[in-house]
Amino acid sequence: ASSSPRVIIIGAGMSGILAAKTLHDSGIQDILILEANSKIGGRIHRAQFGGHTVELGANWVIGGGPRSNRLYEIANKLKLKTYLSDFGNISANIYKQEGGLYPKRIVSAALEVAEARDQFCSNFSTRLSSPGHNHDDVSILVSQRLFKQVPTTPLEMVIDYFYNDYEDAEPPRVTSLLNTIPRYEFLDFGDQTYFLADSRGFESIVLYIAKQFLSHKHEAIRDQRLKLNKVVREINYSKTGVRVKTEDGYMYQAKYVIVSVSVGVLQSDLIVFKPHLPDLLNVKQQWKTLAIYDFDMAVYTKIFLKFPSKFWPSGPGTQFFLYAHEKRGYYPIWQHLETEMPGSNILFVTVTDEEAKRIEQQPDIKIQEEIMDVLKKMFGNNIPQPEDILIPRWWSNRFFKGSFSNWPIGYSQRRHMQLKEPVGPIYFSGEHTYSRYLGYADAAYFAGGNSDVMDCQIRASGDYPLSEFGILT
Ligand code: FAD
Repeated sequence: ASSSPRVIIIGAGMSGILAAKTLHDSGIQDILILEANSKIGGRIHRAQFGGHTVELGANWVIGGGPRSNRLYEIANKLKLKTYLSDFGNISANIYKQEGGLYPKRIVSAALEVAEARDQFCSNFSTRLSSPGHNHDDVSILVSQRLFKQVPTTPLEMVIDYFYNDYEDAEPPRVTSLLNTIPRYEFLDFGDQTYFLADSRGFESIVLYIAKQFLSHKHEAIRDQRLKLNKVVREINYSKTGVRVKTEDGYMYQAKYVIVSVSVGVLQSDLIVFKPHLPDLLNVKQQWKTLAIYDFDMAVYTKIFLKFPSKFWPSGPGTQFFLYAHEKRGYYPIWQHLETEMPGSNILFVTVTDEEAKRIEQQPDIKIQEEIMDVLKKMFGNNIPQPEDILIPRWWSNRFFKGSFSNWPIGYSQRRHMQLKEPVGPIYFSGEHTYSRYLGYADAAYFAGGNSDVMDCQIRASGDYPLSEFGILT
């Protein structure tokens, strides 16, 4: 046996760890995982804030539906603290741009329209994709137009944001109807979303999976096959294998490589492929690069604020509150943590897309001022200044370049097949390669055991000669 591993896995997020486990469980144990960060988990990442553990990335797990959700099962097995999110009382909790709550009956009427519109979009999508229809895709917005109810007022827009952007992190104008609606994660796993708030973090689920096949001592993985702080910058590939170069000047050789970095990272120039992906075999065949460049990496940011005292309503039915502004998506969705972390006096607000990108580029103090103006509109001028603020910057982070993928209108199923398609000895995993639960940690989980990873495993176990490169025709 040679000293070089048979398969290198780039990235130790949920999908990379699952891909490694898939290989390991099938008998391929000479693997090497290279991770750029100093810990595993990737976009599942906890942080300390205001004396508590908060999740900067994935936060909710879905459970209670017809299909059991492995992540939810593991969370329960580990006895992680999860709390059912109650979105049921939104009608009493929407604030006007200049302050004051909307009357409940007005919001209830607007919510009924939104619910009917959402149902229409779902039915329309099912009809379009039924056999014999063979219809082109449309955006969610087009389907809203067909329903003759396009949100235009601040109230209608914030409700629409709650239904769509809050899930997809991009507006209905750019989001594919056929590939995002109906939302299979809820159909399969149930519509109960559990907010994970535990000092061990969501990342303990990834750690739990990693510990099943990597040597460890207590909570720390101590296995030569996992190398942290290894930033891959170059993948050299040929018919006989791969050479992977890292930023610190090391080079690793293997037969195959599984790339599990986000589609945002693939769109950036962090990792150089040699030969360049589109030039493989034929310059005209730019299929792989186009499949990568055409997909969307959305941005979803939770901004945390710690206050010396609480000034927002608490108790049942108050957890979520919305701010309706003429500018769609201006500090729209708020959540307090009084149930999960009593007395913490922590609030967080979720922003997405262009707003999230704009915010990332501002200093914290400037964003704090904007947020305080919004909070003063909602709760009056006598509220205290925050003691601390935490703004994750997923979009600027070169190891993520955004929060999760979203399926843009115009992106075909065939393109998505190409996004996953291996190129010679290079295989692709990651949340963006698993369309049914696209964007979610569940997608990353399933992507780690997807058919291409299995194919890699079959080839690697048979030491299949790399006679042909897998190109879709
Ligand atoms: P990643 O986690 O990105 O793993 C890829 C790994 O590759 C990373 O660890 C990265 O450091 C590493 N890497 C990158 N470049 C290199 C390089 N050059 N060399 C070596 N290593 C590299 N999902 C849910 O289910 N529920 C939620 O509530 C939810 N909310 C979210 C909120 C936010 C703000 C974010 C950011 C994500 C959220 N998600 C949620 C999505 C979920 O976190 C992701 O889908 C999932 O974690 C992606 O896993 P992955 O393995 O595909 O990618």
